[in-house]
Amino acid sequence: MGKEGKAGQSWGSTGPGVLLRLIRTADRWTKSELVRESGLARTTLIERLDHLQSAGYVSSNKQPSKTGGRPAETYSFNHLAGYLLVADIGGSHVRVGVTDLAGTLLATSENDLDPDDSPQTVLSGVITDLQGLCHQEELDTSRIRAIGVGVPNSVQQGPLTHPEIPGWENRSVSDAFAQVFPQIPVLVDKDANIMARGEQRQSPEKYQNMIVLKVGMGVGCGIVIDGRILQGAAGEAGSIGHIPRGGTVQCSCGQWGCLEAVASGRSIAKALMDSGQVVHSSRDIVNLVRKRDGQAVELVRQAGRELGEMLGILAAVMNPSIIIVGGNLAESPEPLLAGIRESVYGNFLPSLTSGLEIRPSVVGSAAGLTGAAELALEALLEPARVDDSIANGRAWH
Ligand SMILES: [Zn+2]
Repeated sequence: MGKEGKAGQSWGSTGPGVLLRLIRTADRWTKSELVRESGLARTTLIERLDHLQSAGYVSSNKQPSKTGGRPAETYSFNHLAGYLLVADIGGSHVRVGVTDLAGTLLATSENDLDPDDSPQTVLSGVITDLQGLCHQEELDTSRIRAIGVGVPNSVQQGPLTHPEIPGWENRSVSDAFAQVFPQIPVLVDKDANIMARGEQRQSPEKYQNMIVLKVGMGVGCGIVIDGRILQGAAGEAGSIGHIPRGGTVQCSCGQWGCLEAVASGRSIAKALMDSGQVVHSSRDIVNLVRKRDGQAVELVRQAGRELGEMLGILAAVMNPSIIIVGGNLAESPEPLLAGIRESVYGNFLPSLTSGLEIRPSVVGSAAGLTGAAELALEALLEPARVDDSIANGRAWH
């Protein structure tokens, strides 16, 4: 290791971590391409590459030369240097998965959960599911590099509640994982935000300003402004479910007239149950919509209109180019989208909405898991963290 790589020394803004970030933007690079794109002197570049290779972050390959000459050596991010565990915990079910370090899903499983369970019970179930997946995939658990978790952001009457309520705040979630997977970084964000990351991953250039609406039993949204997820002062940006809209319906949070009280899986399920249908989850509602149950279709469409009013206001504030509609209730998206489009395009100025695309998620139910992987990777490969791990000899092996 070079002198400047010793613990306590800083590479500043030209360290191996910054070079790694560049390397991750393409499949493979030659040294000449890296010199050109990084602006580093060739000798400096070679030294940085050596650090990244010996730490396991980068692998090299010999590509046959097209002209029949010496094979060209190329460098790539070593996405096979370990695994990520990911979890997407919703209002009525949970998905878990294992990914490689490119965020590609290698295995997944999902389970319904009981909304009346405590966060501790839900989390221990999630951890058991992940352990089961590790066992099934015969994963070397010493190569798990990070864990990304999305937690529900909707207030419910039951104990499966808001991240602010004891049990769902970041610290409790990471502590629960740390007991079973010690020494592994755990990154936690709200479910709508990880879904937004998963959608953004599809085309980061295109999705610089977008809203990702998640409609399941609850309602929330992830907001991307200038390419970054908006967190807000207390991490509450996008918590639109409990904005009072007027009206006489009491919400599960205790307030009257919240958006979620009139436009969510929970409100639709209640209306259907009141008329004698048996509905426990957003998936039950989607099944009725697929069977073209008239009442279910109209309730979902009306929820879409209410949500569209809120989305139009948000669009007026932040001027996104796209609104993506995801979550379990969007698995049969037509009536929901029709209601949303009716409100947004019908009630807001064309100058605001004419270039605004509103469409269902293309990533679908995997958006939460791939977003959780993005969240974990972003933290794991943050340049200062990479530099620090190289300087302190905590390499990937
Ligand atoms: Zn409320």
